[in-house]
Amino acid sequence: MQKDQLFTRRRMLLASVFALGAAGTAGIVMADGDEDAARIAAPVAGAPALQALKPSAYRLQPLTGYGPPRAEPRKLKVRQEPILQISGRGRHMMLTFDDGPDPRYTPHILDTLAEYGVRAMFFVCGEMAVANKELLARMADEGHVVGNHTYTHPLLTTLNRREIRSEMERTSDVIEDAYGERPQWFRAPYGAWNRAAFQLGADMGMEPMAWTVDTTDWETPGTGTIVDRVESGAAPGVVVLSHDAGGDRSQSVHAIREYLPHLLDSGYHLTVPRRRPS
Ligand SMILES: [Zn+2]
Repeated sequence: MQKDQLFTRRRMLLASVFALGAAGTAGIVMADGDEDAARIAAPVAGAPALQALKPSAYRLQPLTGYGPPRAEPRKLKVRQEPILQISGRGRHMMLTFDDGPDPRYTPHILDTLAEYGVRAMFFVCGEMAVANKELLARMADEGHVVGNHTYTHPLLTTLNRREIRSEMERTSDVIEDAYGERPQWFRAPYGAWNRAAFQLGADMGMEPMAWTVDTTDWETPGTGTIVDRVESGAAPGVVVLSHDAGGDRSQSVHAIREYLPHLLDSGYHLTVPRRRPS
């Protein structure tokens, strides 16, 4: 990859982030950067309840220059449960796609998102990402957020701490190389977190992101069923789980072409989270 290309992507990525917030806030906001900016709502172990952010409390942070990558990620508070939904004013929802990228399906999902100007989160596996780096570069170019979904998609609860760390770190390394920055979000395969996964994720500067509505598209229930599950589950704050890899995902590809315009017509803002740069 050309260094200047990476630089450009990184610039675009950063430029798309209007970091809002003030010192002492949770530092977790939605990326849209408009007055609808919402924040992630989830308990933080040992922390007082987070106060809802008033728009007046926001201030635009100047984007700073591009120093060398931080040697040490900003450590986060260790959560005891993952984030299940987003919160904020307005009808925000978030689409997430796991297990990819897969060149057979991911480009079609990206095409549909681009057609409607919508951003999403992709929780990628390292072993898929390393073979499809150009798709991570495209995600960066188009403003999507890439999260860490481990390298080989193991059940983390069967691994020891060293193995979990390896699964997470190797994936973040691939993402940094192909996407331009290390991920700030982590999703455990099968939604199976344990204490070590929460701790290691926090050490690596990643928040645990689960979901609200599971399309169970991996069971290939039919395009119409996937569409129904998304649309019947639609509500403010909902995080939708789908898959762009791990099997035949043509139903998932077809389904988003149906439900995405319906959600937009219903007044939902499909958005992605960004944490305030530290
Ligand atoms: Zn998965």
